[in-house]
Amino acid sequence: MSKLRLTDIKKSYNSGEVVQALKGVSLEFRESEFVSILGPSGCGKTTLLNIIGGLDRYDEGDLSLGGSSTKHFKDKDWDAYRNASIGFVFQNYNLISHQTILQNVEIALTLSGVSVAERKERAKQALESVGLGDKLKKRPNQLSGGQMQRVAIARALVNNPDIILADEPTGALDSQTSLQVMDILREISKTKLVIMVTHNGDLAENYSSRIIHLRDGEVQSDSNPLMLNDKPGKAAATQGSGKLSPGKTSMSLLTAMSLSFKNLLTKKGRTLITSFAGSIGIIGVALVLALSNGLSNYISDMQSETLAGFPLTISQGVQQIQTPQPPDGSPFANSGSSGEEFPEGDVMYRYDSAANVEQHVNVLTEDYFRYIADIQDALPGAVNAVSYSNGVEMNLLAKAEDDVVKFETSSGMAMDRPSGFGGTPAYWQELPDNDEFILSMYDLIGEGSRYPSAANEVALVVDEYNRLDKAFYEKLGIFSDHAEWKLSDFIGKTMMKAVPNNSFYTETENGLFIPSAADSYEVLFGSDEGIELTITGILRIKEDGATTSGYLSEGLAYTPALTEYVVEQAQQSDIARAQMDSDRDVILNAPFANDEAKELRLKSLGADTTPSSINIFPKDFAAKDKIKQYLDDYNDTREEADQVVYSDMSEMIGSVIQTVLDTVSYVLIGFAAISLVVSTIMIGIITYVSVLERTKEIGILRSIGARKKDISRVFNAETLIVGFVAGAIGIVISYALASAINVLIANALGIQGLAQLTAAHSAALVLGSMFLTLIAGLIPAKAATKKDPVIALRTE
Ligand code: ADP
Ligand code: MG
Repeated sequence: MSKLRLTDIKKSYNSGEVVQALKGVSLEFRESEFVSILGPSGCGKTTLLNIIGGLDRYDEGDLSLGGSSTKHFKDKDWDAYRNASIGFVFQNYNLISHQTILQNVEIALTLSGVSVAERKERAKQALESVGLGDKLKKRPNQLSGGQMQRVAIARALVNNPDIILADEPTGALDSQTSLQVMDILREISKTKLVIMVTHNGDLAENYSSRIIHLRDGEVQSDSNPLMLNDKPGKAAATQGSGKLSPGKTSMSLLTAMSLSFKNLLTKKGRTLITSFAGSIGIIGVALVLALSNGLSNYISDMQSETLAGFPLTISQGVQQIQTPQPPDGSPFANSGSSGEEFPEGDVMYRYDSAANVEQHVNVLTEDYFRYIADIQDALPGAVNAVSYSNGVEMNLLAKAEDDVVKFETSSGMAMDRPSGFGGTPAYWQELPDNDEFILSMYDLIGEGSRYPSAANEVALVVDEYNRLDKAFYEKLGIFSDHAEWKLSDFIGKTMMKAVPNNSFYTETENGLFIPSAADSYEVLFGSDEGIELTITGILRIKEDGATTSGYLSEGLAYTPALTEYVVEQAQQSDIARAQMDSDRDVILNAPFANDEAKELRLKSLGADTTPSSINIFPKDFAAKDKIKQYLDDYNDTREEADQVVYSDMSEMIGSVIQTVLDTVSYVLIGFAAISLVVSTIMIGIITYVSVLERTKEIGILRSIGARKKDISRVFNAETLIVGFVAGAIGIVISYALASAINVLIANALGIQGLAQLTAAHSAALVLGSMFLTLIAGLIPAKAATKKDPVIALRTE
């Protein structure tokens, strides 16, 4: 369709001195003919061909296609023109060595956006038309020169261009294969314009329909010229038709990926080493993340568990307060503090410790309880649990074997952590109203083990050896020497009962109350009165927990619901009412020693249900500080006498650890970041080497219509693949190292699973690696797009 016309084309090169390669060439070509261009070396033949093919730009004059000028053409128009209208055949074939024959031919079609199936089909047809239908899967280096040149012709033909440009296509071939190639070109010239540069005058003579001689950048002779400007009307009529504005060429990311992937496969060793080097930075960051992640989990667990043992405690009644500063006056008189720690001199002091202690009476009012009840809302997430102990005494009976025994709980003085504050353990404690808190520290062990939830359900707590003290078994009524039991001997078993006051105490005529005697326990246990308690599960501290001392101690743990049930019953019991009205102890029939003794008795009988102490369990040390602030806020607005003081048993354990941990992580992250930067720079350099190596490929891609963007895409794809492989290698190695580190740490320090690499971090690191290598490759990729396709093609 197109009539190709050159008008006074001039082109010079400036490499030190100015060389005028073309000095004003005017030529017009027919739509189909076989033109041979002859001339001595250096006369401008290749330059002319490159300008016709849009690989090189003319300086002056005009190249018109189907009557329309190309002066306004932009890069993308030339790219599209090359892709749609031109097929190049070079002397040295210019095939991409890491692609198969079929892929070499297909590549031109991938640029013009043809579907995969059609692409394959057309590439196959083109190869069949040059007699290579049986070599599709071969690589260029497995073919002879003549065969490679036929592949190049097939590639030139596959887009069905109007013009085939062949630059000394037979220059590297023996005469026999030269003839085969010439036959093919002559066949093509029946329907297309074929312009061939050759040194061989005989071949030109025998095969072409027109011979143009070039000398020193000028046309010397033309055997079959076309009159310039003839039939202008016809030229105008064809203007704009056909493929001259074929839109854009574009390479899909997938094509770029597959090109780069194949290229990387040809240098597997180097790719692996590059990726491995790139992965070192990733490994560094991954391990730092894993360790700091694991450590901060560990520390927050440890804090939680430590604080589970050392709650903030608020108790009713007289409190001793250590005043931190000595009273005004001489510091020597009271505190012995001279203001100087670790004095050097020959000096000793005397001080009065009692003067440092103040007494305060806590009165826990309704107001205060409400204030504490609001704490979860006021400080969300800061409190693990709040527990109240009101000294109500439960009347418990146990029957594990033959005899029913009384399961003694401590008196009203008992805290709900039976062993934590000295004295004999009660083996009987209330669970906090937060099962998640407990289950974060404890495992339920044994088949069918389940966390107790109702009033009639209790849990058994064993130590880390699955042990319980002999005294506990005896409290349950098991006196045999049997030392070993099955978990299933207890799970699901009902061997206890809480008996209400009214059944447990018998009122005498003179208003006294007598507790049931041992010989009536059997009857009480069998009666309908009270609530039977079933062991629903067995709790044991978690193996990978930060500490082995937890919130719970050995023995039985009951639900707050049971307390509620018992308190309700006790409050309405006859003995509680009687005790309210009497100044004498209704059990002992004696006067109380003081008011506090009476209060205790009222509490133990359930007549007085105000809690005698409150325990607040902070989540961590930071939360503890907030809670203390919250408690101080209550006092700020109140008179001295109405203030409520608390005791903080964990005051000694500071939050220094967290600070140390943070510092260490920052330093480690700094080192890891440096290795990341180094490996990124290295990947940049290696990509640059790859650009240098693939210069020829860049030229080939440009010659078949690839845009600059496509070229950078090819290299970006390469760095993305390297980045992905580096990231993947890094993550795999990091997981392996993390497990090794965990084993080492577990052996050395007994801390389980310290290095924890999360899936989210892993994914982020792989993406980060791809991103970094992409950044590292941007400059080399940009350099690749800047390469002049003509020069790129000349490199070997
Ligand atoms: P031919 O193909 O006829 O041998 P060329 O077209 O390759 O000749 O070259 C014509 C002239 O232009 C030569 O003198 C060559 O040195 C010069 N030339 C070609 N390409 C370049 C280039 N990219 N830079 C500088 N000089 C060039
Ligand atoms: Mg040449």
